[in-house]
Amino acid sequence: MQLYNMTIDGVADKSTQYVDVINPATGEAFAQCQNGNVDTLNSAVSAARKAFSTWGRTSSDERRAKMHELANVLETNMPELMELITKETGKPMGGLNNVGSGMEVGGAIAWTQYTAELELAVDIAQDDADARIEVHRKPLGVVGSITPWNWPLMIAIWHVIPALRAGNTVVIKPSELTPLATMRFIELANEVLPAGVLNVVTGDGSVGAALTSHSDVNKIIFTGSTPTGKHIMASAAGNLKRLTLELGGNDAGIVLPDVDVKSTAAQLFGACFHNNGQTCAALKRLYVHEDIYEEICAEMAEHAKKVTVGNGLEEGVELGPIQNEKQLQIVMELAADAKANGGRFVAGGNRIEGPGYFFEPTLVADLKDGSRLVDEEPFGPIVPIIKYSDINDVITTSNQNDCGLGGSIWSADIEKATELAKSMECGSVWINTHGAVQPNMPFGGIKQSGFGVEFGLYGLEECTSIQALRIPK
Ligand code: NDP
Repeated sequence: MQLYNMTIDGVADKSTQYVDVINPATGEAFAQCQNGNVDTLNSAVSAARKAFSTWGRTSSDERRAKMHELANVLETNMPELMELITKETGKPMGGLNNVGSGMEVGGAIAWTQYTAELELAVDIAQDDADARIEVHRKPLGVVGSITPWNWPLMIAIWHVIPALRAGNTVVIKPSELTPLATMRFIELANEVLPAGVLNVVTGDGSVGAALTSHSDVNKIIFTGSTPTGKHIMASAAGNLKRLTLELGGNDAGIVLPDVDVKSTAAQLFGACFHNNGQTCAALKRLYVHEDIYEEICAEMAEHAKKVTVGNGLEEGVELGPIQNEKQLQIVMELAADAKANGGRFVAGGNRIEGPGYFFEPTLVADLKDGSRLVDEEPFGPIVPIIKYSDINDVITTSNQNDCGLGGSIWSADIEKATELAKSMECGSVWINTHGAVQPNMPFGGIKQSGFGVEFGLYGLEECTSIQALRIPK
């Protein structure tokens, strides 16, 4: 079985035990990795601190060039990374609407290239006979990154590349469920970067907790659940760490009666089910106007019945398994609750028997706000379709959810949709699409979905502090 090591201070660390990594399509181990602990974490933070003294002083040009070299590393090793991602997450190589491992590695390359080209210019607040005031952006020091299991490599890139580009050094702790693509990328990246600049430590949540409380770490970038985000916020208080918390979402999509039913249903199906609904900004609560409600339900059900579910390594598979057994149990529990509370299953509803953690793509009609499947994030292939009659009422009720990550309005009238979009309480709103993240559009949540933004100059600036410099004339 292939073995994967942590990389600390530029070298492979083999000081701990190896543990199995499971392929969710088979339920069986396919590789093993080092299981880190608090000691390895401390070594990694020391290495990152030491490396910061030189990396933090490199020129912007030097760091830009290094980021492009990292993009080349991703590109050169794309087939290997794609296969690792498919084996550890279960997501198909291609996937529904091409949202699969190919897109994950392709996206990682695109984000790296885009972020490489960003510049933190010096801002001039005053320049007159009295004084010149310059506002500089300085790196923070050591950034800790904690990533989830749904898009392990892409999210690692979203954390790591802006941190490095701004002059910080990094210690990353991937989810113990999906550590391999990240470990392999960081091993390869260390052929390009100076030792200690980018380190990876594995292990369970206790290693993540030690990273968030470490007195020599200056910032945490975290993507994961809201409860863990709250733990991190408390744990980071000791040395006043900066935080970017990208937490759970329960995004609403509101469909107006003027849409073309057939084409909209196809797009909605993709927005809800790509990566099996295991995406923070997937469409998770679908509100449809009563005039087209039954038609949308029927069209989407056709897509659910036709979509190919299976092992993501096989050609033509569009949806893989749920990534882990615990998440499958959450989905099954929410399906049972929906059934018990009057949900009408227009597609799916059951676990797919056999090895692996498969569940049928499931659509549930006739539920209302206040039912668990509507109020809670299932993070799996099950979506409630809720009927509404008044647009103002539905905006109000959909905003009552605790989460505020993304939202969407679907309409033929772009002007009207744009006005409605502005009244949605969430960090990103899309019109006639959903979850369309891109490197130049800031992305982050409000309410229980966290705070801070990623991507573009806004995201890069969050990896810096301001130094204001007053030069007398
Ligand atoms: P968690 O929030 O528990 O895990 C995310 C990451 O945090 C993992 O690397 C995990 O490590 C680490 N971690 C766990 N506990 C701590 C801690 N106390 N301090 C620091 N780091 C910690 O998410 P789960 O994987 O358990 O998923 C649970 C729910 O979270 C899902 O049902 C879904 O609703 C939501 N979620 C949201 C995601 C998003 O993109 N916003 C992504 C994934 C999940 P380890 O896994 O090794 O324990």
